[in-house]
Amino acid sequence: MKAEGGESPGAEKAGTEDGAVEEGALEAELLKILACPKCKAAVEQEGDRLVCVKCGLRYRIEEGIPIMLIDEAEPSSAEGDAKSE
Ligand SMILES: [Zn+2]
Repeated sequence: MKAEGGESPGAEKAGTEDGAVEEGALEAELLKILACPKCKAAVEQEGDRLVCVKCGLRYRIEEGIPIMLIDEAEPSSAEGDAKSE
């Protein structure tokens, strides 16, 4: 049986590993599994939005949670300059 003393004593666990995620920035792992519900394409973060690389729908992020709903998505800024609120 080995005692847990192999590591240097006094080495504190300072912070969590990979805890350097910017506030508001989604983790890469999360982005990888997210996909546009409309066309199943990948999405990229753009500010506080996720933008579908294919159809350009923009999904907002609320409190770190992306709202991946077509009904809630905004159309690509490239087309349609009509502001609807
Ligand atoms: Zn899409």
